[in-house]
Amino acid sequence: MRAAMAQAEVGDDVYGEDPTVNRLQSMSCERLGFEAALFVPSGTQSNLCALLTHCRRGDEYVVGQMAHTYRYEGGGAAIVGGIQPQPLEFETDGTLDLDKVAAVIKPDDPHFTKTRLLCLENTQWGKTLPLDYLQRAVSFVRSKGLFLHLDGARIFNASVAHNVDVSDITRGFDSVSVCLSKGLGAPVGSVLCGSKDFIEQAHRWRKVVGGGMRQAGIVAAAGIVALEEQVDRLAQDHAHAAALADGLTNIDELSVDGPHTNMVFLTLSPAVAQDLKAYVRKRGIIVGPTADRLRMVTHLDVCTEDITTVVNVFKAFFAARNAA
Ligand SMILES: *Cc1c(COP(=O)(O)O)cnc(C)c1O
Repeated sequence: MRAAMAQAEVGDDVYGEDPTVNRLQSMSCERLGFEAALFVPSGTQSNLCALLTHCRRGDEYVVGQMAHTYRYEGGGAAIVGGIQPQPLEFETDGTLDLDKVAAVIKPDDPHFTKTRLLCLENTQWGKTLPLDYLQRAVSFVRSKGLFLHLDGARIFNASVAHNVDVSDITRGFDSVSVCLSKGLGAPVGSVLCGSKDFIEQAHRWRKVVGGGMRQAGIVAAAGIVALEEQVDRLAQDHAHAAALADGLTNIDELSVDGPHTNMVFLTLSPAVAQDLKAYVRKRGIIVGPTADRLRMVTHLDVCTEDITTVVNVFKAFFAARNAA
């Protein structure tokens, strides 16, 4: 990937003249089944450009309470676009119940904002949305006159898990945002896909939010390697997550949720979690900040021995604790 970046042919992408960016964009939209694509620095910016394109000031989008596009993007849609979120709880399978969505769509009445867009997330905390649900969501938005956006930051984890072409998952969506970073291993970069008109508008918004980059082919080259070489490999991350869940499942103090594609969640008492995190950190394992629900994510830098190490260190922690 570093070699591809070093050798990338570049131009000024603000003028649309970077051949490597253009190649990444055409590869992406072809692969995901859309007319056009736009390379952006991050998934957050990609989702923001999508929201700004679908919704005008005063419009509303329906979104999961814990969705990245609502909870974890600094309120960008509201700050930059004056777009109001209508959050709903996710169901346990990561879907939004379409009857509940229907119930929050605002009537055409000056008391209310205009509900414009439904945002789904796939995978949602590692959970792949059921394929028949996706079809129902597409028919639903058509019948309600809404647009449909997919935060597909981890969409390839879903396609690999279901063993289907990614375009079978994105079909019928008006726009999809995909991360080339994270599991696919690029240092930065996301692509937003949609119709030609949609991407033209999103391109304007990308400039507004400061995402117009110049010799961006250097980073786009990493995105090309990510798409060409890292997608099939995700199956290994899923196998690692399964091995991790399996290895931890016999520890009585832990409640293991997963594997969900490349994620495993652990619930334990906050006091124990704190000791556990300190203990494993001393042994080179860093676990994220949450108090009582630990999220463990496998990716290309985690190998099979790492999984064994993590399981053994976790077991050692609880063994020492129970002996004390
Ligand atoms: C990581 C992530 C994003 C945003 O990506 P960044 O590149 O970190 O801005 C969006 N949605 C989901 C579901 C993510 O996991």
